[in-house]
Amino acid sequence: MTSLDRYAVFGQPIKHSKSPRIHQLFAQQTGQDLLYSAQEVPAEQFVMTTEAFFAQGGKGLNCTLPLKELAWAWATHKTERAELAKAVNTLAVQVDGSVLGDNTDGCGLVQDLLVNHGIALAGKRILLLGAGGASRGILLPLLEQSPVCLVIANRTVHKAIELAAEFSHKGAISGCGFADLIDSAPFDIILNATSASLSGQLPALPEGLLVEQGVCYDLAYSNEPTAFVHWGRARHAIKSLDGLGMLVEQAAEAFFIWRGVRPETQSVIALLNSERGL
Ligand code: NAP
Repeated sequence: MTSLDRYAVFGQPIKHSKSPRIHQLFAQQTGQDLLYSAQEVPAEQFVMTTEAFFAQGGKGLNCTLPLKELAWAWATHKTERAELAKAVNTLAVQVDGSVLGDNTDGCGLVQDLLVNHGIALAGKRILLLGAGGASRGILLPLLEQSPVCLVIANRTVHKAIELAAEFSHKGAISGCGFADLIDSAPFDIILNATSASLSGQLPALPEGLLVEQGVCYDLAYSNEPTAFVHWGRARHAIKSLDGLGMLVEQAAEAFFIWRGVRPETQSVIALLNSERGL
């Protein structure tokens, strides 16, 4: 067996994951010797496979769909952001041998918005579409930026209301259904965290939801503009972005947790964008 430190991403499906490429680029850039692989892991094999990985000396894991909630349940030690998110995307072996569960999705999103795109969140009206695992993961880092309000709208309305209630001690947050948005004042930033966009679907959203010079951001990403990126462009958003930058930034945070070295992300995002013709 190799003596290099081993890392991996577990998920299903995993074939198209960009994580091995991103971590390989980070490792080259920072001069870190490590191995990072992608492994197809069905939910029912998560615990067995994860325990075997760490028992055999693995140093860290990323977990993606559909494993983030299982990783949260499995990890006995968690950061506050992971605990509240009820989802773990990063597992890291600590010096005492224990494994810490973290969630780097939200700080990845905030980093991409703030640093890469110069989009401030403080004092802004933010609308978040979707109340699934990705939404849970980004709520605390978003609220920590002090938006004037954060509204979660979801197809299954009670999920949005319950999720908002869970985070209400962290900031001005509320939940509703898409139809309720008709009476709403326009938003500065609309984030799409539904999984509908990639299959070309969008929630039925009323017109007039985005302020002039507003920003749209789809957490999903694709080689082609997603349905929500098109939606934002059609409403003259000043920026209508997809989630590739968030993907690279959440990976950079995981890399930092594992290796103690923060990789530079702009060149990696630029390379991945050039490979998809952007
Ligand atoms: P999830 O837990 O399965 O949640 C899916 C959400 O989408 C739910 O709120 C669901 O509403 C909603 N939805 C699904 N189909 C819909 C439709 N046709 N119309 C309206 N709403 C619909 O998925 P997730 O883990 O939150 O992931 C959401 C998206 O975020 C995915 O595209 C994922 O790729 C992306 N993501 C990106 C990154 C990144 O690094 N860029 C990281 C994490 C996730 P109901 O509750 O009503 O079912």
